[in-house]
Parts: sequence; C-alpha cells; structure tokens
Amino acid sequence: MTSFADITTIGVGGDIARFIEPTTRVGVIEAVEEADEHGLPLCVIGGGSNMLASDEPFMGVVVRDARRRITVPDEAAPVEGSDRTVHVNAEAGANWDDFVAFTVELGLEGVEGLSGIPGTVGASVVQNIGAYGQEVASSVESVEVWDRETKTTRDLTAADLRFGYRSSALKSSMYAAPATPADRFFPTPRYVVLSVTFALRHSAEGTVGFGQLAKALGVEVGARLATTAIRDTVLTVRAAKGMLEDPTRYVEPVMVDTKREGNVIADLKRLAASGAAPAADGTGLPAPDWDRHSCGSFFMNPILTADEAARLPEDAPRFAAALPDGTPGVKTSAAWLIDHAGFHKGFALDGAASPAASLSTRHTLALTNRGNARAADVAALAKAIQAGVKERFGVALVPEPVCIGIDLRP
Ligand SMILES: Cc1cc2nc3c(=O)[nH]c(=O)nc-3n(C[C@H](O)[C@H](O)[C@H](O)COP(=O)(O)OP(=O)(O)OC[C@H]3O[C@@H](n4cnc5c(N)ncnc54)[C@H](O)[C@@H]3O)c2cc1C
Repeated sequence: MTSFADITTIGVGGDIARFIEPTTRVGVIEAVEEADEHGLPLCVIGGGSNMLASDEPFMGVVVRDARRRITVPDEAAPVEGSDRTVHVNAEAGANWDDFVAFTVELGLEGVEGLSGIPGTVGASVVQNIGAYGQEVASSVESVEVWDRETKTTRDLTAADLRFGYRSSALKSSMYAAPATPADRFFPTPRYVVLSVTFALRHSAEGTVGFGQLAKALGVEVGARLATTAIRDTVLTVRAAKGMLEDPTRYVEPVMVDTKREGNVIADLKRLAASGAAPAADGTGLPAPDWDRHSCGSFFMNPILTADEAARLPEDAPRFAAALPDGTPGVKTSAAWLIDHAGFHKGFALDGAASPAASLSTRHTLALTNRGNARAADVAALAKAIQAGVKERFGVALVPEPVCIGIDLRP
C-alpha cells in the first residue's frame, strides 16, 4: 500500500486507501469526478513537496497525474527584432525542473531563476512558486483546469488566477482563513490543473533578479547573463542551503519515471560531486542528506500592517508588500523571526542529540525529517516554533505546505 511517506519529500504520512495514476486527460477528470461524486476526500498530488500529511490513514483517493508531455505549440521560431514570445505547454504531471531544464536548453528566458524547485508544473501555479527574484506568475499565459464545482473544463487566464505572494485563486479555493481548510475543496483546489501554457522569451540570456544570486555570480542585480549560468548558479546556491530535494527518491519504484531519467542522473552526479558520502547500503547512491528531506520553507513570510510592523525590533527586515485586501503592508522575514526567537539552525525539541525532526542545519525555514520522523514529530516542532515566535514578537506564522489532518492554524 502506498503511503504519503512514500510520495512526499519530507517522507512522513499515513497509508492511502486508494492511489491512482491516470495516464490520459479524460482519466484524470474521471478520477477526480468519481471521488467527488462519492463524496470521498480527494488529494491530487504532484511531487508531494509542499505537503505534510498526518500519520493517520487517508480514507480517500489520491490522484497523481502521469501525463508529463512538454510541447511548443508555436509553429515558427520567432525572428530577431519581431515579437520574441514563445509559448510552451506542459501537462500538469510534468516535473517542474524538467520543464525549466527543457526551456533553458531551448534558449528561452523566463523561468531559469526557478531552477531546482521540486514538484510539478500543475502545482507550480497553485502557490505561485517563486525564488531568486522570479515568480511563475510572470510567465503563465493560461491554465487549463477541471472545475470541480461546475464540472466543466475551463481556460483560466493569468488575471483569473489572481496571483499573489505564494497565493492564487486556486489556493484560495482551499482555505476559509489562513491554514484553515474550506468546507469543500481541501486538500485540493476547486480547480484541478490539467496543463499550463507559458509565455517565455526567445533569449539565451536572462536577468539576474536577486542580490544573493547576483553575489554568487559576481554581477550586479539587473545584469543580463546566460540562462544556463543562472540555472547552474541557482542549483549550486540551493544545494549549499539544502533547498533541493534528494534525487535518490526517484530511484524508489513509486517515484520512478516521475522525473526524466537524464535529469535525475545529472542531479545525482551533482550531489556526488558536492562531496556527498556514498550510501552504506552498497547501492552506489549518495547517502541521504537529511537537510533535503523537508517541504522547503515551512512558514510564509508574514505580511503585517504598519502598526504590527512598528512593534518589531528595529533591525527586523522590512519590505513593502500588499496585504490580502490590497492595502499597503510590510513583509518581514519568517526566518529572521524564528532565529531571533531562539530557534536556530538544527534546532530540535528537548535538544535531542539524534532527533527525529529538526530545523535544517543549513536553513532556518526548513523543518526536516532526520530519517525516522513521523508527521506528529514535525507538527510538534512546527507548533513550538509558532508559539515561540508569537510569544516573542506577537506574530502568527502561517505554514506554507498543505497540512492534511494536521491543525497548524496560527
Ligand atoms: C527542498 C524544497 C525547496 C523548495 N523551494 C521552494 C521555493 O524556492 N519556492 C517555492 O515557491 N516553493 C518551494 N518549495 C515548495 C514546493 O516545491 C512547491 O510548492 C511546489 O510547487 C509543490 O509542487 P508539488 O507538485 O510537489 O505539489 P504537492 O505538494 O504535490 O501539492 C501541493 C498542493 O498543490 C495541489 N496540486 C498538486 N497538483 C495539482 C494539480 N494538478 N491541480 C490542482 N492542484 C494540484 C495539491 O492538491 C496540494 O494542495 C520547496 C520544496 C522543497 C521540498
């Protein structure tokens, strides 16, 4: 029996009553529709990289779209001087980094800064993935969805999707309030993504959009550089922070074929070249890097009102941002708050020497499974951090991953 522990990056979570992998568009719709018709809990899963499921069995249906084609529908390559937009369509089950690698190889600009983010194309638009000065929102032309409410397929434009910081209309459909599941569509949005069409630019160069990346590349923010160089550097910077997934997961039978073999081999080679020790089991694979067994950033950067922000210490980071209602607010750093509330890298409850779950030793925002954690261990750690930050700074941290059967309401 497949469990959430088998198919999520953090490697925790209970058994799944029914796990299906449709290979056709109609098969995906039928699987979703059948679960909805019978009133069964439904979870459409991609790479399981933004999901924390409880240890209890999931008495419903988990659907993983096995369609992974990436195509370029435009008939002619654009010519210099004319409109240089190139459309690329990817089916929802395509691995996100396969998609990025494909576009960079094709000489397209637009998503190179999002290299190495785990997961699928389908989920990329759910929380509007972002990193190093890029967000997927700025490259999305349209999203083909199955609307579970009207039971029709629809093409949503980028405007329909109401993208924001780690948010979209898709994600909003799952929540009644922050981290509070809506009655009907949870843990999967009302709109199930079938495919995404991106509008990219025909250019072998991209813009370096973020200070840390610019520093690693030895250039100024705003510089134009080869997209291949940006991609390589993003992967290196991410590896140093443990913010890549463990590529050995794709060797497991339940994950094989969900990412292109050539790209998995490249990831394994990069990991081995970074000095990772070989596994003790004689497989020839690198030993597990527990810092990579996470959901990525576990808490979102809080966006506060001016009054709330004024109560933070002077040296707390502050950036202009919009509050959910569109009015001006102040974004601060969840990592800064956590660290300054006393939860440093590697923090574990009770100071255990070999904890089941701890903060990553390389990134304050990642909660990690050190090999034998259960969801309850991760949840206990998350709650302790929420309580500590609330007590120290009065700020409620909202979890970024979709928490199934686990209550982490702020
Ligand atoms: C090491 C690491 C680093 C990360 N770094 C970043 C980062 O830099 N930036 C960032 O934004 N995120 C980051 N993440 C989070 C994660 O990679 C993204 O949120 C990713 O888009 C999740 O994709 P997934 O396919 O794994 O989604 P899943 O975890 O499988 O699902 C997440 C949600 O999306 C829904 N979903 C999945 N597929 C579909 C579909 N076809 N239609 C509708 N809903 C769907 C699920 O039902 C669920 O609600 C990181 C995660 C890890 C583990």
